[in-house]
Amino acid sequence: MLELSLNQLAAGLSAKQFSCVELTQTFLDRIAALNPALNAFITVDRDGALVQAAAADAARAAGAVGPLAGIPIAHKDIFCTEGVLTTCGSKMLENFVSPYDATVVARLKAAGTVMLGKTNCDEFAMGSTNENSAYGVVKNPWDLSRVPGGSSGGSAAAVAARLAPAITGTDTGGSIRQPASLCGVTGLKPTYGAVSRWGMVAYASSLDQGGPFAKSAEDCALLLNAFAGFDEKDSTSAERETEDYTRLLAKVPADPAKPLAGVRLGVPKEYFGDGLAADVRAAIETAIVEMEKLGAVRVEVSLPQTELAIPAYYVIAPAEASSNLSRFDGVRYGHRAAQYKDLMEMYCKSRAQGFGREVQRRIMVGTYVLSHGYYDAYYLQALKLRRLIAQDFSAALAKCDVLLGPASPTTAWPIGQMADDPVQMYLADIYTVAINLAGLPAMSIPCGFGAGGLPVGLQMIGNYFDEARMLEIAHRFQQATDFHAKVPAL
Ligand code: GLN
Repeated sequence: MLELSLNQLAAGLSAKQFSCVELTQTFLDRIAALNPALNAFITVDRDGALVQAAAADAARAAGAVGPLAGIPIAHKDIFCTEGVLTTCGSKMLENFVSPYDATVVARLKAAGTVMLGKTNCDEFAMGSTNENSAYGVVKNPWDLSRVPGGSSGGSAAAVAARLAPAITGTDTGGSIRQPASLCGVTGLKPTYGAVSRWGMVAYASSLDQGGPFAKSAEDCALLLNAFAGFDEKDSTSAERETEDYTRLLAKVPADPAKPLAGVRLGVPKEYFGDGLAADVRAAIETAIVEMEKLGAVRVEVSLPQTELAIPAYYVIAPAEASSNLSRFDGVRYGHRAAQYKDLMEMYCKSRAQGFGREVQRRIMVGTYVLSHGYYDAYYLQALKLRRLIAQDFSAALAKCDVLLGPASPTTAWPIGQMADDPVQMYLADIYTVAINLAGLPAMSIPCGFGAGGLPVGLQMIGNYFDEARMLEIAHRFQQATDFHAKVPAL
C-alpha cells in the first residue's frame, strides 16, 4: 500500500482490496515506527483519523465518492485545523487549537480524505533546514544526520519515508520545492492566487502559497484538483474557472517515443553558475538530456537579475512577516508570559519567550526596513527589484514552455552546518525565492542522486496559471524514469 499512487489507492478501496480503516492503520503504524527517528510529525491524530476512515468506508459503501475519498493525508502544521493543534512550529502557539479549518483543509476534508496529523516545519515557515522548529529538527530519511530542507521539512520527509501518500506544504520562498528536492519527492508551488491562503497562518502574504507534496506529478495534480481554486474568503485569490489539473496527463502522444515533442525547455545560464555543486549540476544536465531524448528542445535563456533575488526577498519577506506577526501579542491567542508589571512588559515578555531566534531576527529586520528613513532605501528598492525580476521571467518564458534548473545548489547538508550562520542559510535559497517574487508556479521533481546517494531535485518553472502544462511535462519525465519511485532504506 505504501508505494501505490493515489489512483491505485482509490482503485484498491473501490475494489475492496483493503478498507480505508486498514489503509489508515497501515500509515499510522508506519508513523508510530518511524516518526521517533524522523520527527516529521508534530501531532498525530490517531483517533480522529480512524473515525474519519470509518466514515470514508461508510461513504464508499453508500455510493458515489470522489477520487480522494478515504485517502490518508497530513497537513503542514501551519494550516489551521479545527479541533487539532496548530503550532506553526512555534512555542508561541504551543496550545493553539483553531476554531475553524483553513480552506485547503476544509476542501480536502470535503473530498473525503483522512487527516493523519500535522507535520513539523520551521517556526512560522522561516527557514531552509527545519532546524528552526520549536519541536526539534526533522531528519532527512535518506541520511538521518542531514537536514530535510525547509520550511516544510516535515511534509517532505514524511512523504519520502512513506508515512503518508500526500501532504500539504507552503512555499513563501522555496519551502515546498527545496525540501522536495532534498528529500527526493515531488512538490509543487502554485501560481500566486491559485490556492486560498485563508486559514494558512501568514508569513509573507504577498509570497505565500500552499501546495502539495506527493510521490509523483500525477498525485500532485489530483490534490490540486481538490484544493485549488477561487475562494471568496481570500481577497488575493484569483477569480478563475475551476480547472482540472490532470487534464493533460492522459493525453496519448502522437509519437509514444517522443512524448515531449514540441516542448521548449528554457535553461537559464545564471542557474548553472559557480555556486552549483558538481553532483547536482550533473544530475540536472542528465535530466535535461533525458527530456531532449523524449522530444523536447533546449533553449538557452537568461535571467540577468538572479543575484538580486535574495537581497530583495530578504527585505520584503521580513517586512511582511514583521507586520503579520504583530498579532501574536499574548492578548488574543498564543503564549502569554506568566509574570509582568504592565501591558508593555506583557507584550515584550510574551513575544520574547514565545518566538525563537530566527523569527525574532526577521521581525527586527522587517521592522527596520519599514521604519521611517529606511523605508525608501530598503523596502521601496526591494519592490523595484521585484518588478525587474518578474520582467526577467516573462521575457524568458516568452521563449519556452518551462524553465529548468536546480531547486537547491547542493544536496542535503549535515544538521548544524548552517545553524550559526543565517546568511549562509539565506544564500541556499538562490534558485527558489525569485519565483515567489514573480508569483509564478514551479515544482521540484526527483531527477537523480548526488554524492552519498542523496536525492537531487529538478526545478521546473511554468508560466502564470500554467500548472497543468508543467505537470504534464513532469508526468512524461516520470513515466520515462524511476527516480521518483526510489525510497530511502529505513
Ligand atoms: N527559506 C526561505 C525563508 O526562510 C523560504 C521559506 C518559505 O518558503 N516559507 O524565508
